[in-house]
Amino acid sequence: MSATSFVSRLGSFVLDRWIPGTGGFVPLINPTTEDVVAETSTEGLDFRAVLHYARTVGGAGLRQLTFAERGRRLAVLAKAIHAERDALIELGILNGGNTRGDAKFDLDGATGTLQFYAQLGERLGDRKIVLDGELEALLRNPRFAGGHAWVPREGVAVHVNAFNFPAWGMMEKAAVALLAGMPVVTKPATSTALMAHRIVELAVQSGALPAGALQFICGGVGDLLEHLEGQDVLAFTGSSDTGAKLRGGRAAIAQSVRINVEADSLNSAILAPDGEPGEPTWELFLREVQTDVTQKAGQKCTAIRRVFVPEARLEAVIEDLRAMVSAVKVGNPALKEVRCGPLATASQLRDVRAGIERLRGCAEVLTGGGERGALVDVAEGRGYFVAPTLLLARDPGADAVHAHEVFGPVATLLPYAGGADTVLPHVKRGGGGLVSSLYTDDKDTATDVLLNLASHHGRLHLGSARIAEHSPGPGTVLPNLIHGGPGRAGGGEELGGERGQHFYLQRTAFQGERTLLEKVLGVSA
Ligand code: NAP
Repeated sequence: MSATSFVSRLGSFVLDRWIPGTGGFVPLINPTTEDVVAETSTEGLDFRAVLHYARTVGGAGLRQLTFAERGRRLAVLAKAIHAERDALIELGILNGGNTRGDAKFDLDGATGTLQFYAQLGERLGDRKIVLDGELEALLRNPRFAGGHAWVPREGVAVHVNAFNFPAWGMMEKAAVALLAGMPVVTKPATSTALMAHRIVELAVQSGALPAGALQFICGGVGDLLEHLEGQDVLAFTGSSDTGAKLRGGRAAIAQSVRINVEADSLNSAILAPDGEPGEPTWELFLREVQTDVTQKAGQKCTAIRRVFVPEARLEAVIEDLRAMVSAVKVGNPALKEVRCGPLATASQLRDVRAGIERLRGCAEVLTGGGERGALVDVAEGRGYFVAPTLLLARDPGADAVHAHEVFGPVATLLPYAGGADTVLPHVKRGGGGLVSSLYTDDKDTATDVLLNLASHHGRLHLGSARIAEHSPGPGTVLPNLIHGGPGRAGGGEELGGERGQHFYLQRTAFQGERTLLEKVLGVSA
């Protein structure tokens, strides 16, 4: 950056105004050129006041609205973001190193999720609580009845997001919380906050939300988490290390704050022995692995990291996949022909290179390997680039492959002999995952593998010939289905249609005289 260049300073949107930090500014970088594109700071913010404002002003305003009314507000937000899609794509390129396709994926994920929850609001209707089942007689005398209902919690939903999806990551959490009637304090990862900042500007300009319903912390959270209380919730997406820190926070433990963690995952793809070269299922498998290695430069929590291939098909898979992955153009993400941009930050580059080195201890490189590779339209030595990398570990039990998530354009092939069931113990060594994929047209294999793996995953993706042309791939998180996974993946659960609301609502049992309760709960007689 030259001394004369202008760098915009991003503020935080709190207490219903934009407030800049007072010092200690952190630069936001263009990962393609390494130029500074903006800077931000949250120094001087009164985080206790931010939470108080959310609880007292934002929560009260949201709870006056019904689900249907809140849903309509989400639809307005979706429209406001979509109307600025082209400009937002540019910000994704500038600050995230996104290709145009990557940025669209992020933005359309955000607006699609908002629209989905807007429609759910319509379905839930003009109500302020949600019944959970019917009232039932509890004693011999049928007049004494009981049942359950979900009501909005009276606290604030604090959202801490990862760097890779500044739009989608922010809105998939915010949509669910706002529909449930909880005010949101959202914090993007600082390094890629530019797009999230603009989205919040658009949300504010749209006037869609009541005062205090959405606050935005652009930078470090300071002592915010120290002030959480028992009606609050904390939803985090990021590394397991940070997730563990937040879980162990003093206030979180003392006040039993509800916490959801979405963390790392060693997602796997299994090509079953019935996969024949050239067949639709085979082609789908190759395409989805290629997409996951290169889309967002592999910085997707759901990206396939471990690829199990029948021994008899190994050479054919290597030949096809190596050709497909090495054909992907890497470089300046603003160019149409470029399908893989840089990693988002310098520390990501360091981590990914170190991760590849670690994998090389038990695997050979098929393509890539930690170098920059041939780049399109990138200045010599600039940018956080690493060539898409495929490795082959001939021992499918190789420890490092099942222990370490390399959060970049990297996947490892693992051959197996025998039936697809022989890989199941290896898949489970990932310690709990967001998603695993199976590619087969054989119903017995599908049944055995999917039911066996279900306990260790949040979601399972079945690729087969009949859906080969329609599959969005395992990496696309659809709002109808839950997102999250046990163990290493954080033990969390988000989205899943109405299920996602439950994190933000309190389920309360009501018991008493039936007709009175029916009035209280709005049950039509
Ligand atoms: P990270 O370093 O853990 O940061 C995630 C978020 O936590 C950022 O907003 C960061 O803020 C914040 N943070 C860091 N330390 C904190 C602390 N002590 N108190 C409060 N907030 C803190 O993770 P990342 O590098 O952004 O994301 C990459 C990881 O996220 C990968 O491992 C990936 O697997 C995982 N991920 C998981 C999912 C999922 O849905 N399961 C989705 C995406 C990514 P600053 O940026 O200001 O430091």
